[in-house]
Amino acid sequence: MKGRRSRLTAGFLLLGLMTGCAVFEGGRESHVEDAEAEELRLLVFDCGRIRLTSVHLFGLASTDTDVRELAVPCYLIEHPRGRLLWEGGLPSELARVDGWVEDNGGLSQRLDRTLPDQMAALGLQPDDVDWIAFSHYHSDHVGAAAAFAGVTQLIQRAEAEAAFGADPTRYFFDPDLYAALRDAPRQVLDGRHDVFGDGRVVLIAAPGHTPGHQVLFVDLAETGPILLGGDLWHFEASRRLRAVPLFNYDREATLATMDRIEVLLEQWGATLWIEHSLELFESLDLAPAYYR
Ligand SMILES: [Zn+2]
Repeated sequence: MKGRRSRLTAGFLLLGLMTGCAVFEGGRESHVEDAEAEELRLLVFDCGRIRLTSVHLFGLASTDTDVRELAVPCYLIEHPRGRLLWEGGLPSELARVDGWVEDNGGLSQRLDRTLPDQMAALGLQPDDVDWIAFSHYHSDHVGAAAAFAGVTQLIQRAEAEAAFGADPTRYFFDPDLYAALRDAPRQVLDGRHDVFGDGRVVLIAAPGHTPGHQVLFVDLAETGPILLGGDLWHFEASRRLRAVPLFNYDREATLATMDRIEVLLEQWGATLWIEHSLELFESLDLAPAYYR
């Protein structure tokens, strides 16, 4: 939803602008209407940008799309029973550099502010999060992972075996980025996982991009149901053309997952958010605003 401030300030929370709410004082909770207490919220953070010179590696011809810049968002889901961080963005160390950082592979990245810094501005520390889940363990999705080593990660079994196994670079993972999670609390999943037990926030296995890639369904009351699609599709054109990146772990599994997720989107009447879509990202209201 637009324009409203999130109530994430630690210590005391002002609810005066919200309808029908009591006031929290000094962390002590007084009565709050049930509807308010049950509200599910989604906050969006800017966790970087990626610029490409070519879309060839994404299985696209240069004429398929003129998009050459990708958004890198992170999301915080606030549920009455806890908080889930979805995605970890670009490596936090990129924020030490002003502007774009080029690598020699035709790719530039920038991160203006780390996720922990953005959360701190809302009065939130990493340990205020109850669960972390990444769509997969590539470097543009686990960049802030080290700050969340005290939080339980929700990871598909195949992803855990790849990311923490003998040869993570085979899957284009950078294990240094998430080394702090190696001995961190971990809940290993085999497919669908209903995070808070009420069907509103559900992890869905979506293998192919990596062995244990997953996507996240979030059933928002006002915005409607959405699916945060990880890297199942990077571009609008990827979806239109069923284009599979050349660096995907399993092309056939990717295509099967694309078809299965399209069916689920239809069944749920859910809106797909292509996470890397800069066009979508620029239309969104960032935290402290929230969607509900
Ligand atoms: Zn990505």
